[in-house]
Amino acid sequence: MKPKYDIIVVGAGPAGSMAAYWGVKAGVSVLLLEKDSHIGLPVRCAEGVNSKSIEKLVPVQDAWIARRITGVVFHSPSGKQLNIQSDEVGYVLHRKRFDYDLARMAADQGAEVHTRAWVYDLVREENRISGVKVNHLGEEKTIRADVVIGADGVESRVGRWAGLKTHVALKDMETCAQVTAANIDIDPDSIHLYFSHKLAPGGYLWIFPKGDKIANIGLGISGEYCRKKSPYNYLMEFMQHHFSQASVLTTSLGGVTASKPLKHIVTDGLVLTGDAARHSNPLTGGGIASGMTAGKLAGEIAAAAVKEKNVSKNRLLDYAETFNKTEGKNLAKFYRIKEFVYNLSDEDLINIEKGVTKLPEEKRTLVNIFKVALVKKPSLILDVIKLFT
Ligand SMILES: Cc1cc2nc3c(=O)[nH]c(=O)nc-3n(C[C@H](O)[C@H](O)[C@H](O)COP(=O)(O)OP(=O)(O)OC[C@H]3O[C@@H](n4cnc5c(N)ncnc54)[C@H](O)[C@@H]3O)c2cc1C
Repeated sequence: MKPKYDIIVVGAGPAGSMAAYWGVKAGVSVLLLEKDSHIGLPVRCAEGVNSKSIEKLVPVQDAWIARRITGVVFHSPSGKQLNIQSDEVGYVLHRKRFDYDLARMAADQGAEVHTRAWVYDLVREENRISGVKVNHLGEEKTIRADVVIGADGVESRVGRWAGLKTHVALKDMETCAQVTAANIDIDPDSIHLYFSHKLAPGGYLWIFPKGDKIANIGLGISGEYCRKKSPYNYLMEFMQHHFSQASVLTTSLGGVTASKPLKHIVTDGLVLTGDAARHSNPLTGGGIASGMTAGKLAGEIAAAAVKEKNVSKNRLLDYAETFNKTEGKNLAKFYRIKEFVYNLSDEDLINIEKGVTKLPEEKRTLVNIFKVALVKKPSLILDVIKLFT
C-alpha cells in the first residue's frame, strides 16, 4: 500500500466494488480495503435480484446466475397459494462469485484491492476526514486519501466514526436467518413468499430456488419481535413442518435495515454508500442493486470532487442529492408501502387472498391485488392516501 490515494473505499461488497470501479474509471487512484480473507464470503444473502436492475449496471455473466425466475407464489396465512407469472425475469445469484467478480472488475480497471485489511478508525486532519487506520495482515498502517467512501455494510462503523447518525429504530431492523437446503421439492422457476404474523412477524419468509431441489430458505422478522423468539427458531419450526426431509448445507444469520435511507451520508472528505447508508429496499430487504447504483454514483462524484480539488461536504452533497432525487425517492416510497403491508393482520391477509382467488389467473397482477386489498379493507384507503402523499 502507498501512503496516499485519491480515494479509499472501505468494504468490497457490491457497493464498494462499484464505487472503486467507477472512481478509477473517472481517472483517480483508488484503494479498496476488505476485512475478510475472501471477497464474496461469507454469503449472508438470499441472492435474489431483478434482472433489469443489474443489467443496467454491469454486463451480466452466466456464471453469476444460479436460477432464472419467472414466477412468484404468495402464500397466505390460510395456507392457500396465489401464483403470479411475470415476463420480468429475476435472478437468484451465486453471490460468492458475483461479489468476487465485481471486485475483480475494479482491480482490472486499476483499483488496488487488499483483503485481510480491517479498517479500525478514520484519520481526521484540518477538520475533515483525511484517511483510514487499517490493520493489514496484522500490521497497523495509516493511509491517507482525499475522500474515504464507507461501503462497510449493514454493521457499518465508518459513518459513526465520522460523526454521522447511522442508527436504525428497532422496529426498522429486520433480523434474518437463512439456510441453503437440498432435497427441497418445489417449482424451481418461482420464488415463494409467505406473509403471516405466525411465521415471520413484521417481515416475511422466502424460498429462492438455486436449482433443482435446492433453495435459499430464510426469513426476516422485525427487531420488535426478536425478544420472544429468535428468527432461527422461527425458521427451524417452518423447516420441520414443511421440509423435514431437507438437508441443510449452509446456515447464516444477519441483519437488514428496513428503514428510510439515512438523511446525512456525507461530511468533509467522506461519503457513505450501500447498506452503510441504509440504501436497501425497506419493503423487500433487497440491497444489491440499490447499493450498486449508489456505489457507482459515490465513485463518480468522489472522483470528480478530487479532480476539482474540492472534497468539502458541500461538494460531496451532490452525491446525496442526486441519489435522493432518483433511487432514494423510491426507497422512501417503499418504506411507506412496508409500513402498510407489515401492519396487515393475518385476517386482513386472508380476506385479500379470498378476493384475489376470485380473479382469473391472468388478472392476478400486483396492482389488482392492491385493488382487492382496498375493497376488502376500506380503512386502508387512509393508509393509501398517506402512502401517496
Ligand atoms: C439474510 C439476508 C438476505 C438477503 N437477501 C437479499 C436478496 O435476496 N437480494 C438483495 O438484493 N439483497 C439481499 N440482502 C441484502 C444484501 O445482502 C445487502 O443489501 C448488500 O450486500 C449490500 O451491499 P454492500 O456492498 O452495501 O454491503 P456488504 O455486501 O455487506 O459489503 C460490505 C463489506 O464491507 C466489509 N467490511 C465491513 N467492515 C469493514 C472494515 N471495518 N474494514 C474493511 N472491510 C469491512 C465486509 O466484510 C463486507 O465485505 C440480504 C441480506 C441478508 C442479511
